[in-house]
Amino acid sequence: MSETLAIGSSTTQEVVAELRRRTHFVMVSHVKPDGDTLGAGLALGLALKSLGKHVWFFQEGEVPRILRFLPDANLVTNALPADLPKDTLFVFGDMSNTARAGDSLPALKRENILDIDHHLGNERFGAFNYVIEDECSTGTCVLRLLKELGVKITPEIATCLLTTIMTDTGGFIHSNTTAEVLRTSAWLVDLGADKEHITQEVFGSKRFEAQKLLGAVLTRATLDDAGRYCWAVIDQKLIDELGADYEDTEDIVNQLLAVEGVEVAALFKDFDGAVRVSLRSTGRVNVQAAASRVGGGGHFRASGLTYPGNLQEAIAGVHSALYAEGL
Ligand code: AMP
Ligand code: MN
Ligand code: MN
Repeated sequence: MSETLAIGSSTTQEVVAELRRRTHFVMVSHVKPDGDTLGAGLALGLALKSLGKHVWFFQEGEVPRILRFLPDANLVTNALPADLPKDTLFVFGDMSNTARAGDSLPALKRENILDIDHHLGNERFGAFNYVIEDECSTGTCVLRLLKELGVKITPEIATCLLTTIMTDTGGFIHSNTTAEVLRTSAWLVDLGADKEHITQEVFGSKRFEAQKLLGAVLTRATLDDAGRYCWAVIDQKLIDELGADYEDTEDIVNQLLAVEGVEVAALFKDFDGAVRVSLRSTGRVNVQAAASRVGGGGHFRASGLTYPGNLQEAIAGVHSALYAEGL
């Protein structure tokens, strides 16, 4: 693996020394969690527990249905003990800033924050920032730390790590699926990662409501005149009609991108009191740059944002941001 740490980042050795020094940890996942933020936190937490450390797993909302199979997912909580030691290290995984964790964490001092991430534009918000932009997942950043720590990679840890890879590569499909990523994945399977179980739970357990929603969204989708931009809206009425929820929307934007000739896809999720937007690119247009023009972030080919305005403003604002980035 190439050791291309971004400016302002800590070395593997510095982070591992800090992990050894501390005794209490809180693994923090981002809101609307995915397999990477949860799997990375659970993997590191399991490893630290094997060293006799005390670990909590914090997340503002519920664990999504498709991720409840993950080892220790039942321990994830949004209620931390009030009497945590002052030098508890809060480990934020898979997010560019602390706002992505929601707003129910206690106020934290920077000295007690470790930021592990692979996003472009990570704000280096911790005392320790382990940010490796060309890693496919936060989980593979964690794996580097586990190797340096010298802990045993148990089948449970391997399953968590393989989940981070499989979710962030879209099941070994996206361009971040390098030969190295495939080798690492094979090695994790050798160590006992349950690939079949992950495939079934994460990719093969869509609710009927989710599949109906997918059908409805594809029926309503719009393709621009050039055939390069495909977008669609999910509104409250559709969600209510189908009995669907946010989790049922997760994979739909990728189907908009899969249309022949399409270079950028956008899904506007206008329900539950906010307009959330998912953007995807096949690689020519930088959707992270487009999202950051309107208050969001992410990766070159996958980004997101919550638009500060109504649906029509969101559609217009996102279109402008995309055109400014060369759509
Ligand atoms: P999503 O479309 O929700 O799957 O998100 C795709 C990518 O964009 C992920 O890497 C997210 O971390 C990032 N992202 C999503 N929503 C936001 C947001 N509101 N602010 C910053 N980054 C986001
Ligand atoms: Mn994520
Ligand atoms: Mn990630």
